[in-house]
Amino acid sequence: MVKIFIDPGHGGDDAGAEANGLAEKDLVLTISLEMQALLNRYENVEVQLSREKDISVSLSVRAQMANDWDADYFISVHVNAGGGSGFESYIHTSKASETVNRRDTMHQVIVNTLNVTDRGKKEANFAVLRETAMPAILTENLFVDNESEAEKLSNSSFLTEIAQAHVNGLVELFDLEETENNNTEDVLYTVQVGAFENEENARRLAEELEAQGYETYIKKVST
Ligand SMILES: [Zn+2]
Repeated sequence: MVKIFIDPGHGGDDAGAEANGLAEKDLVLTISLEMQALLNRYENVEVQLSREKDISVSLSVRAQMANDWDADYFISVHVNAGGGSGFESYIHTSKASETVNRRDTMHQVIVNTLNVTDRGKKEANFAVLRETAMPAILTENLFVDNESEAEKLSNSSFLTEIAQAHVNGLVELFDLEETENNNTEDVLYTVQVGAFENEENARRLAEELEAQGYETYIKKVST
């Protein structure tokens, strides 16, 4: 079982970056919830979020939650601001080898999937990257203060694309496989035991089967 911890940045009192009528805390929550929903379609993967609504959670608590849960990978999702365009990712300055390897895959898959400007693979001493005990990555997905990117970010199907891009990276990293049937709880398998031209014969077989404890029903089919 692979345990993926998703951290939607900011929340509550902390809106993160704000511009063009967009708030980072809302965008990253939508992306993260979408990632969770997409990952539900895969086998052997568990997902936990640092927040599932618009609440304040301190950086140390976010890292602690992932540590307590013993996550295999920590992904902090952010949206950028400050003039620029495109995607960039961060790992901690200590650059542990597994952290570097995983980031290389995630970064490349996300840039390729979204087809956006590659701002590069970066390092920073961010608290969530420093205090997490497992490999961790922080992604900065486009700029709210860039007018054309803000327009993209206003579109919920583009936010789904960002989520899908992250999930594509995770699928590659952890060899995740889609469950064969994503609606197993809604499926019934029925067995047909006979087809008769005479309704009486159908009733007789149904009675025999019911006497043996089977539930039966007779269905009229045009031939
Ligand atoms: Zn942020």
